[in-house]
Amino acid sequence: MRESPALFAGPLRAARFFFAAPMSQAAPAPVANFLRTQIERDLAQADWQQGRTFGRGPGDGPHHAAAPADPAAIRTRFPPEPNGYLHIGHAKSICLNFGLARDYGGACHLRFDDTNPEKEEQEYVDAIKEMVQWLGWRWEFGEQINLYEASSYFDFMYRAAEALVEAGLAYVDEQSAEDMRKNRGDFTTPGTNSPFRDRSPAENLARLREMRDGQHPDGAMVLRAKIDMASPNINLRDPALYRIKHAEHHATGTKWCIYPMYTFAHPIEDALERITHSICTLEFEDQRPFYDWLLDHLAQLGLLARPLPRQFEFGRLNLSYVVTSKRKLRQLVEESHVAGWDDPRMPTLIGMRRRGYTPESIRAMVESTGTTKTNAWIDYSVLEGCLRADLEARAPRAMAVLEPLPLEIVNYAEVLGEGFDACSAPVHPKLLELGERHFSFGPKLWIEREDFCELPPKGYQRLFPGNKVRLKAGHVVECVGCTKNEAGEVVAVQARVLPDTKSGTPGADAIKVKGVITWVGAHEAVPAEFRLFDRLFLDAQPDAGGKDFLTVLNPGSLRVTQGFVEPSLARAEAATHWQFERHGYFVADRVDHQPGRAVFNRTATLKDTWNKS
Ligand code: ATP
Ligand code: MG
Repeated sequence: MRESPALFAGPLRAARFFFAAPMSQAAPAPVANFLRTQIERDLAQADWQQGRTFGRGPGDGPHHAAAPADPAAIRTRFPPEPNGYLHIGHAKSICLNFGLARDYGGACHLRFDDTNPEKEEQEYVDAIKEMVQWLGWRWEFGEQINLYEASSYFDFMYRAAEALVEAGLAYVDEQSAEDMRKNRGDFTTPGTNSPFRDRSPAENLARLREMRDGQHPDGAMVLRAKIDMASPNINLRDPALYRIKHAEHHATGTKWCIYPMYTFAHPIEDALERITHSICTLEFEDQRPFYDWLLDHLAQLGLLARPLPRQFEFGRLNLSYVVTSKRKLRQLVEESHVAGWDDPRMPTLIGMRRRGYTPESIRAMVESTGTTKTNAWIDYSVLEGCLRADLEARAPRAMAVLEPLPLEIVNYAEVLGEGFDACSAPVHPKLLELGERHFSFGPKLWIEREDFCELPPKGYQRLFPGNKVRLKAGHVVECVGCTKNEAGEVVAVQARVLPDTKSGTPGADAIKVKGVITWVGAHEAVPAEFRLFDRLFLDAQPDAGGKDFLTVLNPGSLRVTQGFVEPSLARAEAATHWQFERHGYFVADRVDHQPGRAVFNRTATLKDTWNKS
């Protein structure tokens, strides 16, 4: 492969242009990986553009051959099967494919791989589109709208099947499924040819048409490629191309009663769309020889235009404490282990969005963990670290009391007189241009239950009788006692406010205190519900080694408390973020948070608690 420095300047300049227009302040710098190296090498080849035409939309060989040069330098695709909601593993594939297209002046297609009848639903199609956009990606390239459905290629796929039959490259096999399995052999034994393998092309064509015309029941026969039953690669032992399935398809209705196999359909979809780099997960590595075999033969038969797409494999993303299999996620929902697909504990993108993860943090996690040829387990704390980095820089601050206990200021009128005492604090300590938040001090406040201890353990620096603390952005108070109910539980705490100690006033620091606690004035506190999440599973690899992931569900993964937030949040809008001082990053729940009912989800604590055992 030639690498000319002069030619290299083209794509790299384009790449710099794209990097220079980051999608957000948190857009990370791309990390080198084998796919970037491959693409840069391809783009540097003198003949990369040669023959790379693109005729408005997907199509067969003649369609593209007659078209002008492709304005997209590369084409990638994200091909979800619309049979469930996207999860964090999909985000890896989305960011990889759309990110490469963005960085190298290319297009990335969103293609619904809906070749399997029955399972697909419009609900999933809509949700997938919404999530790809939420992550910040667009499938438009100039005027092109690269949003495709694989089922719209059924006519071509069938034409390709007939062409293979006529060329003696495929045959209809009437062996029973059991015989077919038996005759496939295994890793140590070569397969055995089917007794139907040597039928004439004319006979095979007649059978294929009978299959298509609905003359045979499901499973009676399949169309297979004729390659090599002794191949060391089992995927080349005459793989199935078409099967009979009398089922209605959500897009094509009852037009078809035979449906292409994934291994046949997928390469064709890529080729019709002129994908240059077909990027998939490692388990497809053994399929690559068939991918190339099929496309090369269809090009030789004049059905597909060259250059043909090439497949590259990368390692899946696995996150610790998370399962990313649609089947298992569905089980969690259907068996009510969680409240739904968008439960904030779910690793689905709709769940993570509701939990408060930002698209920036997900993109940063995917980018920073790199792309390699091995299936890696990424520690969940990496994702949380990316979230903290994103929100630390921009989330407004506020005070919230999650588990409230009344604090009564016994000498309030004596020191501060009638009325409330106005206080303020910056919206963000580093973004002073965002201004100040206003709240006030009064005779009755809410503090955290854990900030009072009648008999404090050694080192406890918050409220206990005789101790002084600063109420953040307020005054210094000294605890004088507490009130208990009949059960002996503390129901209120009493304290004295010390004169001339108000934060930000001269001499306020004259009295030294070791503890600072957060608070909200009871006269203006906004009642709020807090949903505090912990990991959904107790085991870092909940489904590794065939383990039943349901046995390691964390019974304490959701804790709900009723408390208060400061008055600046009285009109908090759903889906906006805050850092509640001491407690972490929160988002107003996009479903349940409404005027008159404040509901906040804790997205993450301020510090890493995942690695604490
Ligand atoms: P599942 O096993 O959860 O059903 P899938 O791979 O069958 O997932 P698809 O809808 O076919 O789901 O996936 C669309 C794309 O997302 C595929 O190209 C697939 O390789 C990729 N993908 C799915 N899971 C991961 C993952 N954990 N890491 C990286 N890519 C993934
Ligand atoms: Mg799949």
